Amino acid sequence: MKSEYRALMQIAAKPDITFTEGQGSYLYDSDGNAWLDFVQGWAVNTLGHSPEPIAKAICNQSRRLLNPSPAFYNDQAVQLANRLTALSGMDQVFFANSGAEANEGAIKLARKWGQTHRNGAWKIITFHNGFHGRTLATMSATGKPAFEPLFNPKVPGFTKVPYGDLEAVAAAIDEQTVAILLEPIQGEAGVIPATTEFLQGLRALADREDLLLMLDEVQTGIGRTGTLFCYQQHAIEPDVVTLGKGLGGGVPIAALMAKNHACCFEYGDQGGTFNGNPLVCAAALAVLDQVCAGGFLARVGAAEQRIRDGLNALGQRFGLSEVRGNGLLLAVDTGSFDAPSLVKRALEAGLLLNAPRSNSLRLMPALNVSDEEIDLMLQQLGRLLEQAERESV
Ligand SMILES: *Cc1c(COP(=O)(O)O)cnc(C)c1O
Repeated sequence: MKSEYRALMQIAAKPDITFTEGQGSYLYDSDGNAWLDFVQGWAVNTLGHSPEPIAKAICNQSRRLLNPSPAFYNDQAVQLANRLTALSGMDQVFFANSGAEANEGAIKLARKWGQTHRNGAWKIITFHNGFHGRTLATMSATGKPAFEPLFNPKVPGFTKVPYGDLEAVAAAIDEQTVAILLEPIQGEAGVIPATTEFLQGLRALADREDLLLMLDEVQTGIGRTGTLFCYQQHAIEPDVVTLGKGLGGGVPIAALMAKNHACCFEYGDQGGTFNGNPLVCAAALAVLDQVCAGGFLARVGAAEQRIRDGLNALGQRFGLSEVRGNGLLLAVDTGSFDAPSLVKRALEAGLLLNAPRSNSLRLMPALNVSDEEIDLMLQQLGRLLEQAERESV
């Protein structure tokens, strides 16, 4: 590790590279080395690195108004809340600064709703291998086995069941249950999509048992899966939706959205110094302008198809699995190849990929990634697999 890194708390193993610039699908270090980026800040940079519309929006807004304080309304937050509710079918929005904070808000909202509507019910059903963030409550809600021994005692009240198992959900419901919280595609678990049948089953179950259905769309929202929100592909309406990652296109903003009947916060229950400040809201409005423009999401679908076709072709040559996921949140199991070592080889070859599990690769490029960039990624990945295959025999 370079000595200059020692002033940073070490929270994850990182390569000895200091990035200084990014443009579109490329990242650069101070020596001018370039990487083709199919991680994009972890599915964050909706429009790629340093896109002009966001640069312009932030620059203009920074000269107009940065933060009047969350005790006052500001025009950007009002506009953004109205855009998001019109687009999603939700009724009200609370802005947060991270996905975890939005989910923390959803958990608080569910508990408050239980107090006001359900005789104090407070337990939330979550799912094995689900991921909801790194605050104490969201780590407690998370179903990652690696989190289990950490920071105990956890926040109580999360009942975890197998993802996709409707009967297990039904069996886990008791008098104290108030909500179901899940990702429509489990991202960190390795891009595991829920079926329409499962999501519709949860909707019916929530209606029957008077529970809130809360979708964590922090990773899947804002066009990532080919529709503006992933739930729109399953003909359901949740009661609560959280957004983060792609909403600000690289700028930290997240949102908790809910239907009127679930909105029960009273004055003093929720807030935050930076929440809904006009700088980040202006960036999110610029992202929505692009993603909602004619043809943008169709283009995401075309890019998805190109990557799928290419990966499936590589899959046949190298024994990889079928491609999973939707839109530009895709993964493939790597068969006999160790995924983290492929990621390491890719890094050395100038390509950024992610391995959510030891046997799978995840791709989450900019939603405006070009055909040339996709082809280049596929070529490079093909070369890396060839190399790995040669060295293993
Ligand atoms: C990344 C992620 C989070 C946490 O978001 P942060 O902004 O890192 O706090 C929560 N839920 C899902 C599904 C995520 O992918």
